[in-house]
Amino acid sequence: TKTIILKHRPEGKPKSSDFEFIDEELADLKSGEIQLKLKYVSVDPYLRGRMRDEKSYMPPFELDAPIASMVVAEVIETKNDDFKKGDVVTGMLPWKKEQISDGKNLTKIDDKNVPLTAYLGVLGLTGLTAYLGFTEIGKPKKGETLVVSGAAGAVGSIVGQLGKIMGCHVAGIAGTDAKVEKLKSKFGFDAGINYKTTENMRKAIAETCKDGVDIYFDNVGGEISDAVLYNINKFMRTINCGAIATYNETSVPRGVSVRPFLIKNSALMQGFIVSNYEAKFDEARKQLGKYLKEGKLTHEETIKEGFENIPEAFMGLFEGENTGKMVVKI
Ligand code: NDP
Repeated sequence: TKTIILKHRPEGKPKSSDFEFIDEELADLKSGEIQLKLKYVSVDPYLRGRMRDEKSYMPPFELDAPIASMVVAEVIETKNDDFKKGDVVTGMLPWKKEQISDGKNLTKIDDKNVPLTAYLGVLGLTGLTAYLGFTEIGKPKKGETLVVSGAAGAVGSIVGQLGKIMGCHVAGIAGTDAKVEKLKSKFGFDAGINYKTTENMRKAIAETCKDGVDIYFDNVGGEISDAVLYNINKFMRTINCGAIATYNETSVPRGVSVRPFLIKNSALMQGFIVSNYEAKFDEARKQLGKYLKEGKLTHEETIKEGFENIPEAFMGLFEGENTGKMVVKI
């Protein structure tokens, strides 16, 4: 079966030659096992971190071994009583077109209420990250101003909508005019800024957030975040969710250059890793499902087609090729 392995640890931006396609023989199905065929594969910025040989909250990928991410797969053969042929499951699995599994850590899903891809996005780790980061660290209050970076992406587009549901004034930062337009027309943000065409981000944020910034949901880090942090209010909270602007840097990223502003404003800045909040996943998923059902929350996916395009889809994240969740349909 077709398999994608990590051939080289990327230097700077990941490139095609960092990945290799190999053919692996499938073992015979043993008692208690199921055979799965991939249907959808999630590609995520955090996978870039696992391609480094560094200690982090998840172990690094090994060289010459398959890369893994969250997927949706179909059971095509079964010798496990818990699964029948045609069942659809989601879980963290390697990038192998077909594979054998013992069925552990897989969750059965269906497309009765939402498309299957939603389990990789709004009802998966993406939605949980948005909801738990925003509520647990952001602690939003009605009338406050929220700024979201990476706003048109998977996590960001949900955070902005949650901000509106919870009564905040919401501004988003994204990389194209079309994305900025969509923030307002589809996701209900009050304002948007294109960081690629705006010369003075600090000023643009001041103009967009007339009452200052109370909550900053940070998906990108780097200079964009410094510009936001120049505009903060007393007791503001930053959710340090991601720093995609620095993931491909080859030197150690610089520290926050706005420390005096944090001190002056008694601001809180907290790192966030979704897996630390596992105890709240059920509650968060329930709430997200409720918002979806009530039509208060919408979600979008950018879907690329073909197993052979998984690396390309992943690399596309660093070029802003996606709006909403980037998913590969197999
Ligand atoms: P996105 O859907 O947001 O995809 C990445 C987006 O980032 C791109 O579409 C692009 O949009 C933007 N981007 C790429 N390069 C840069 C850059 N140099 N500067 C600014 N923006 C850039 O991904 P996710 O929603 O899945 O993830 C968002 C962030 O959240 C990531 O940093 C990720 O690592 C983090 N994350 C953290 C989790 C946690 O537990 N802490 C869990 C899940 C995600 P544009 O066109 O606007 O540039």
